[in-house]
Amino acid sequence: MTTANSSPLSVQQVFELAKQGKLFAGNLIVGGKPAKTVDNTTPIDNSVIGQIADGTADDVDVAVKAARECFESGEWKDKHPAERKRIMQAWARLLEAHKDELSALDCIDAGKPISECLNTDLPATIETFNWYAESVDKVFGKVAPTGTDAFSWVVKEPIGVVGAVLPWNFPAQMFAWKVAPALIMGNSVIVKPAELTSLSAYRMIELAYQAGVPKAALQMVCGRGETVGQAIGLHPDIDVVSFTGSTEVGRLFLQYSAQSNLKEIVLELGGKSPQIVFDDAILDDDAIDNMLAAAFWNMSENCSCGSRLLVHHSKKAELLAKLTEKLGAWQLGDPRDENVSLGPMIEQAHFDKVMNHIKTAQNEGAKLITGGHSVNIGSGWYVEPTIFDEVDSQMTLFKQEVFGPVLAVTTFDVDNDAIALANDSDYGLAASFYTQNLGRALKVANAIKAGTVSINGFSEGDITTPFGGYKQSGFGGRDNGLEALEQYCQTKTVWVVR
Ligand code: NAD
Repeated sequence: MTTANSSPLSVQQVFELAKQGKLFAGNLIVGGKPAKTVDNTTPIDNSVIGQIADGTADDVDVAVKAARECFESGEWKDKHPAERKRIMQAWARLLEAHKDELSALDCIDAGKPISECLNTDLPATIETFNWYAESVDKVFGKVAPTGTDAFSWVVKEPIGVVGAVLPWNFPAQMFAWKVAPALIMGNSVIVKPAELTSLSAYRMIELAYQAGVPKAALQMVCGRGETVGQAIGLHPDIDVVSFTGSTEVGRLFLQYSAQSNLKEIVLELGGKSPQIVFDDAILDDDAIDNMLAAAFWNMSENCSCGSRLLVHHSKKAELLAKLTEKLGAWQLGDPRDENVSLGPMIEQAHFDKVMNHIKTAQNEGAKLITGGHSVNIGSGWYVEPTIFDEVDSQMTLFKQEVFGPVLAVTTFDVDNDAIALANDSDYGLAASFYTQNLGRALKVANAIKAGTVSINGFSEGDITTPFGGYKQSGFGGRDNGLEALEQYCQTKTVWVVR
């Protein structure tokens, strides 16, 4: 087991501690009592890798009291922005030094391929902290056009106590997306990681304290959604909840707010994102790699997954041949192996849901092109990357988020049909399309109802650009970019009358 100030562990040391069942994530609450713990298992082989706290509504209450006291005392909020920046940069340097350790924790906890944790998730996580650290002393207020008989200015103030409720699919990165902008603005933050993936959040907060973040400004309550998540949603002294997760649970947070103190709610939710291949698309290796990444990256446990491939009928044969050939190089297996691109599903219930989607697609008449089976390695929750052709817009696979490696292919004849199919969804998180025609690109980019649109490639943007969804993919604000700071502020107008 690591201790708060222990030196960084290597990937192999973390894997060894996991084998010995010694990885731990507990609550980090000022004045809190030790929580009951439960076994934490890895989806890699379902073995016990350690213990995690199973927090309660009382733990949330204690954390909120400390968070409120910290906020009102000004211990963090009233530090000069340059000082908050300095502390956050020190934290980012510690995260960099612990990059391998944190990568291995996410790999073992979520079953994510270690190569992606090392090369994508943790670098993006650290960049998020550096970027928000740099932003804080460059945010200016406004002066109102009052004329000469008055003077008025408009400022952004930190909102107060923030609840950050996280999903399991990108544990470290989702932690950074919420915590970095909320904390840098001077708020007190209470984090609830997904109960399946608490390890990296715990270690990152220990490092925050080492860097100088006051303990009451950043606390964590581990535990289940229906206990700790609900208590955060209903708490009368939390000012905003920033949530990433399923649309179903997102709706609950709106109810919690209505039933309690009308706290602000920001939701980043699910998706069923289209990828459109027009008749002039160049299907070179790069394009195919982008389409496969959109569809299967992170085992498709990805909110912006491009799970609907809409292809012009003239391109379908070539596209399917190239996709299936290149997909052959994606190795499914133990995610601790650096050559593996696809690990297990996060847990058995989720694996069952994904396999049911495959069965339903077959029953509804979709044509299986490749994959379609589970593979019995380790835990047995490994699913082959799967492509279905002849998926029409009435089929379940066209409408519902699978959150697993199942790509639906649908054919179109004219551009307007492609746009209509792309927008034929309750979701609107992301979209990508492939064309060489600039006029078409502008028209389609404008017509698509999604928060992020990529042309000739797959992208979620980066930390500089806002990320979030139209329709039932999101509510109330955006993550990333300077827009994310808005979630964690109030706007105040001051008038000097005379
Ligand atoms: P989830 O909704 O099941 O869980 C998310 C969080 O909510 C967890 O911390 C969980 O403990 C908590 N929770 C669960 N039930 C709750 C309840 N009754 N009350 C309060 N809190 C509760 O989602 P998940 O399975 O962890 O993540 C998958 C979903 O997240 C997918 O739909 C995916 O598309 C979405 N997602 C969206 C984004 C985005 O940025 N838009 C990013 C990642 C994931």
